Amino acid sequence: AGMSSQYLEIRDLRVTFDGFTAVDGVDLTLFQGDLRFLIGPNGAGKTTLVDAITGLVPATGSVAKSGVELLGQKVHKIARSGVGRTFQTASVFEDLSVLQNLDIAAGARRSALTLLRRRKNVLPQIEEALETIGLTDLRDRKAGILPHGQKQWLEIGMLLVQDADVLLLDEPVAGMSHEEREETGNLLRRIGAERTVVVVEHDMDFMRAFATSVTVLARGKVIADGSVEEIQSDPMVQQVYLGT
Ligand code: ADP
Repeated sequence: AGMSSQYLEIRDLRVTFDGFTAVDGVDLTLFQGDLRFLIGPNGAGKTTLVDAITGLVPATGSVAKSGVELLGQKVHKIARSGVGRTFQTASVFEDLSVLQNLDIAAGARRSALTLLRRRKNVLPQIEEALETIGLTDLRDRKAGILPHGQKQWLEIGMLLVQDADVLLLDEPVAGMSHEEREETGNLLRRIGAERTVVVVEHDMDFMRAFATSVTVLARGKVIADGSVEEIQSDPMVQQVYLGT
C-alpha cells in the first residue's frame, strides 16, 4: 500500500452553546483506510463534533473534504459530498423492504446522474451493498422486523449506496450481541479499507479489537491521538478517561 489519501481535514473546530464551549479547537485528519474510534467521557463533545462535521450545529474553524470546505454548507449538501452518519437509533423505513430502503437511499446519492443513467447504475451498487452488509437473502424482508443489529447494518448500507466515503457512526454496536459485534467489526473493517470510518464508542473491548487509530476527547479537546497501544499507555488518558 502506498500513501493513503487524506479524506477529511478538521482544523480548529469550535462549537459553543450559550457561552459553553462543547468542542474546543479540535484538529483531526482522517485518511483512507482509517477505522478510527472516537472515545471520551460523557459530555466530552463527541456527538457535538459529529454534529458539527455533518452541519447539524453551527461551528467555526474548518472541515475540508479533499480540499473543499464543508463548514457552513447545508446538511444535505454535506451528505452529498460523501460524508454520511448514523445515529444511535437506526432510522430506516420500517414498512419498506430492505431493498426499497436501499433504493430510496440511492436516490439521494451525491452523483449528479441523469435518471436513466442512475437506473442503470444503481442496481449493481445496491447488490454490492447488500453483499457487504450481509443482507442479500433478506432483501425482501420488511426493515421493521429486522433485529436491531441488522437494522444498523442496513443503515450503513444506505450510506454506502449514497457513495459516502466518510462514515461517522454513533455507537453502532450498542445493544448488540457478541456475535453481532464481531460481524459489525468485520463489516467496518471491510468498509474502512477504501473509505474512512469514525466510530463513536463506549465499548472498549470492541475498540481494542477493531480500531486502527483512536482519538480521545475530553472537555471538547483532543487529549490523545494514536494507536490503541499508545492510547492505553498514555498517562493523561488513564487519568482523565480510564480512571486507572
Ligand atoms: P458526548 O457525545 O461526548 O457525550 P456531547 O457532544 O453530547 O458529548 O455534549 C458535549 C457537551 O455539550 C455536554 O456538556 C452537553 O451538555 C453540551 N451540549 C450538547 N448539546 C447541547 C445543546 N444543544 N445545547 C447546550 N448544550 C449542549
